[in-house]
Amino acid sequence: MTDKRRYRYGKRRKKQKRKNLLLLCLFIMGLAAGVLFGEKEKTGRGQDDISEYGSLSTETENGLNAETDLKTETVESLEVHFIDVGQGDSVLIKCGENAMLIDAGDNSKGTAVQLYLTKQGVSKLDYIIGTHPDADHIGGLDVIITKFDCDKVIMPEVERDTAAYRDVVMAMEYKGYKNTPPVSGETYQLGEAAFTIIAPNRDYGEDYNNASVGILLCHGENRFIFTGDAESEAEEDMLSNGIDLRADVMKAGHHGSSSSGSDSFLDAVNPRYVIISCGQGNSYGHPHAELLNSLRKRGIQVFRTDEQGSIAVTSDGKNLSFNCAPSETWRSGREEEQ
Ligand SMILES: [Zn+2]
Repeated sequence: MTDKRRYRYGKRRKKQKRKNLLLLCLFIMGLAAGVLFGEKEKTGRGQDDISEYGSLSTETENGLNAETDLKTETVESLEVHFIDVGQGDSVLIKCGENAMLIDAGDNSKGTAVQLYLTKQGVSKLDYIIGTHPDADHIGGLDVIITKFDCDKVIMPEVERDTAAYRDVVMAMEYKGYKNTPPVSGETYQLGEAAFTIIAPNRDYGEDYNNASVGILLCHGENRFIFTGDAESEAEEDMLSNGIDLRADVMKAGHHGSSSSGSDSFLDAVNPRYVIISCGQGNSYGHPHAELLNSLRKRGIQVFRTDEQGSIAVTSDGKNLSFNCAPSETWRSGREEEQ
């Protein structure tokens, strides 16, 4: 960053005219991007709207400040889409031409996730992460693996005797792919972003949730944490593996269950925003009131796929913006049942 800044200042004096032209171009591109974002994903329940996109920028409006614009030019934006797959998880991460997918919802959601990716202009994936072999995470992955070429598939070395798991194994064989086991501490590049494996940190036997692959994704100054269905036991192991877990955006573990998001884990991550991926009226009562209360007490802004449909967060390396306003209901899944 220091080099880029120096470069910026060096150019500034010499090429004022070119800079003005560049600013004009960036301004026009910005307008075009705004229109594009505004047009995508009318989820029905969501309030996606041009006027609301970016309304939650974490900094005050930038205007056409030369520094911000030049920085935007040097950092490809990162988009993280928490796709509404009902009760389950599916997250698309795009950075420039690069893309990765974490989970693909249950068996009935594979095609919906495929269409979502296509609509987002994704034709191949750099990485697919199947966090753990439960159907609400890997159920739709057989479709994704079959339809999209992928450089690396990362799944924990845990097998399950279920149709959902066997379908994924068959799709892998069909494409000639081999699994890359997750190794805590290893880092992978995704365009100008990078992610580090933070879990699993040991063998949890047949405790599939705790075997979840967890990652910390970094883009410029922004950090995102994803832990699948890891519960407090696996969270403890993440806390002791020595990796700095601080993150601006956290996907709530295990669909907002009280079994995840322990106080010590929330202390370490210290998120500003939490996204909960769960289905309306799900039989587990997710999200649980215990977790919602801890988030509320900490002043964390919460977004929920059960109330808001698919949620998209955009990072320019410094600021974060969301496609909708945070949820204000603080309503647990158990209350919804009544
Ligand atoms: Zn799950």
